[in-house]
Amino acid sequence: MTDPRITADCIFCKIVRGEIPAKKAHEDELVLAFHDVRPQAPVHLLVIPKQHVPTLYDTAAGHEKALGRMLAIAGELARKEGAADGFRTIINTGRVGHQEVYHVHMHVLGGPDPLGPMLSRAKFGGATRSG
Ligand code: AMP
Repeated sequence: MTDPRITADCIFCKIVRGEIPAKKAHEDELVLAFHDVRPQAPVHLLVIPKQHVPTLYDTAAGHEKALGRMLAIAGELARKEGAADGFRTIINTGRVGHQEVYHVHMHVLGGPDPLGPMLSRAKFGGATRSG
């Protein structure tokens, strides 16, 4: 039976279906976590809902359980994978957010050393802000 919630062309749906390989870090009935193929930190995981949802603009009440699970497992996953002293989660959305893959995913980034700044402050005069 065809599941209309899973799109044929989405690369992350293909990972969910096992059609392309991924180094999995966690899987349950709602979410899948796997290592990013182009890591930007010693620990770089992607946590996705198994159901295809293109962006955070497309989420609704029915997605709350999977979205909650993504956050609920992040700390345990990060610790297990070697980010035991802090990590960063990022969800990029749309053009402005530089989203490359249109299936909601949460980056989990960390490692032994502090990460760089989240965003550059210079453009918005953040350096001049006080308090
Ligand atoms: P974003 O810019 O937030 O959409 O990030 C998409 C991420 O997916 C990038 O960090 C890519 O390196 C990663 N990525 C793309 N294809 C794969 C794949 N087949 N397996 C693992 N990670 C992937």
